[in-house]
Formats: sequence, structure tokens, C-alpha cells
Amino acid sequence: IISSLKTVKMKGSFAKKDRYCLVITDYSSKKSFYRKIGFSSKKKTSKLEDIIKRSSKTTWNDQLPISGRHMLKLIRQLGMTTDHFPELRMYFAGRRRISYDVFRRIILPRVNGHSNETKVGVDVTSFLNKISKSDIIAARTVSIEEVQKPGDFYDMEVPLYRNFIANSFLLHNSQARYARIREGLLNDFMKKVGDTASAQFKGLKELVGIIIGGPGPIKEEFYNGEFLTYDIKKKVLGVIDTSYSGIPGLNETVERSDELLKEASVTRERKLLERFFGEFAKDSGLAIYGLHEVIEALKAGNVDILLISEEFDWVRASFECPKCDFKKEEVLRSEDTKGHTCDKCNSDLNVTGENDITEEIVKMAEETGATVEYISTDTAKGEQLKEIGGIAGILRFKAA
Ligand SMILES: [Zn+2]
Repeated sequence: IISSLKTVKMKGSFAKKDRYCLVITDYSSKKSFYRKIGFSSKKKTSKLEDIIKRSSKTTWNDQLPISGRHMLKLIRQLGMTTDHFPELRMYFAGRRRISYDVFRRIILPRVNGHSNETKVGVDVTSFLNKISKSDIIAARTVSIEEVQKPGDFYDMEVPLYRNFIANSFLLHNSQARYARIREGLLNDFMKKVGDTASAQFKGLKELVGIIIGGPGPIKEEFYNGEFLTYDIKKKVLGVIDTSYSGIPGLNETVERSDELLKEASVTRERKLLERFFGEFAKDSGLAIYGLHEVIEALKAGNVDILLISEEFDWVRASFECPKCDFKKEEVLRSEDTKGHTCDKCNSDLNVTGENDITEEIVKMAEETGATVEYISTDTAKGEQLKEIGGIAGILRFKAA
């Protein structure tokens, strides 16, 4: 119901309190008032019926809130022109408004009939169909009054949509002046984040990837903008939408990153293994495998990248004979520690110690500046690496 409330000053000394008068001029608002509220007095009810009967049918609460010029932009995105709507030239020229009814009868069917399979086309079409069901109406501004009030003013804004509904009015974000200040601050902020990240991550050899997360649309702006250096930007695995900011947002980003991280590590593994098996196929002498060969190359400081399968299970095992004083130590696969017999008396040996040698090897790699890469058996090539002993290396130079 579109209405206005007026204070009516009563004449006469008995009326100390103000009285109020609800004014309804709009036709469909009158009908709504009659149907949904009405009067208890029969006399007033019949008077109201009379008024409605005599009223002009003009209604104001069916005005489409989209201007003709804006609508023109939208239909152009669909590849349509004003020629598709010859009867609405005045509307598209910005000289007349149209009702929801006209919108639904004339514009919507033609828009829906005009096939448009582009992403933008689908978006615009779905937007227009949504609008047709909306109950937002356009109303004329009668007057504007500037108010000067002491106190704090708060600048509300809603990201992405740039407008919001408060007290039944559709409001837009604060004026362009504030928007510019905000944009300036935002730009400074993004620049600071970008510079800090670029400086922190620069030359970080272990950095596999970066994930950007946050609520709102700023993260995309940040990612798409020129805030990160090229090298760092290349490492961005993806952008993740979160519901929170701050520490909870950070946790949320980590939680939601599983998929991205998995994808990234699989891609990385695939590339490494392709390189390894590529060198191997070329017989370039730069690809070696097997524990013995890898250890020799590590000792020579010649390993650039060390590939270790997740299922690499070599151990340094200690054996003792329960019958004599025989002892031995051997590096072998964990599953091969059973069934060893004494060199002297042929009794079954006891395994007295079993140490994973991965740590030893990784330490050697680190001391000689080799990069250590753990490879899963999730891919066919990862499985292949496991089959050739679970350990391999890409060399810096061809061994003599
Ligand atoms: Zn023995």
C-alpha cells in the first residue's frame, strides 16, 4: 500500500493531541487497503467501495524500476535492438516509464524467445525473468531536503550489488566521493598486501602455490589486478570464497583448499615425473633410479631433484643371531627383513632394529642443495616410480 501520513492539527481547545491522516491515492493501494484492512463500520466500508469505484484506475505500484536506457543496455547485450520493441520507443528513449504488466507482456516473451546462448546472454535473461517477479516499484521523488545534524554518520555499503534495502527503500551505496576515497584506500591496501606477499614469497624455493581467500569480491580484484609480481602470481592456484574474514576466514580458506591443493600437487607430480621419464627415454644420462645409484649421486652432490615415492619403504635393519654372536646391518626394503639366516650357524636371525632411511637420504639431499619431492602413487607414473624402487633422481650434469 502506497500511502502518506499527515499530521492534522485540530481546531478547538479540547484537542490537545495531534491527529493523523492516512492518505491513499493509488488505485491498487486503495483496493489492497479495502481487502486487507478495511473499516469495521459498514457506513465507512460502503463509502470506501464508492470511492474505489469512482477512482481513476491509474496505479503507481506497478512501475518497473528499470529505466528505458538501462533496459536498452541489457537488451543490447542479448543482441537485440529497439526494433524488436517498436511500441516501446518512448520507454527506451528514457521519456516514459513502463509497468510490470507491459514488461511481462511485451519485453519478457520476446527476450525469452530470442535465443542467446552466451554466458552474458543467459545472465541477462535470468536477471530479467527474476525482475519480472520482483515487488520493487519505482516511485517519483517529490522533494529533497538537506538535513544538518550533529553526530556520527555511518557509511553503509554492500559489496558486489552496490545497493541494499532498508526500511522498505532500495538504497545505493554512498556517493561517488566516498566511493573514490574507499577505492583509493582499497587500492593502497591491495598494493600493500601484494608488495608484502611478493617480498615474503620471493625466492622461497619450497613455495608450491598460493591460495587467495576472502569474503566479498576484493580477492578477485586483487588477483586480477597488478598487485603481485609476475613470478608470484604464476603460483596462485586459485581463489576461494569464504564466509568470514580474519583468522576464521583463514581457517575456512585452508579447509576449502583441499581440492585445489590436491589438484596442484597432482599436476606438479605429473610434470616432475614426465621430466624424469623424458630424460630417461632420451637416455640423456640425467635420470637415475635405485637406492644405490641415488646415494652415490647424492654423495657426489650431483642430484638436482630427488624423487621419493610415498611408498618408499627402505630401512636400515639390524640382525642378530640368537644362537651365536653373529650380527649384521643391511639396507633393504621393509618387507625383505624376514627370513634372514645366520652366516655362521644358519639359524633364523632376529631383527633387532629397523630404521627408516628416508630421513638420512633427505638430510643428504638438503646438504647438497637437492630439492626433495615426495611422489604419490595416485598416478600411473607415480606407480611406475614405486615399481622401479621408489627412489630416483634428476641429475645436474651427466655423470662421467
Ligand atoms: Zn649364528
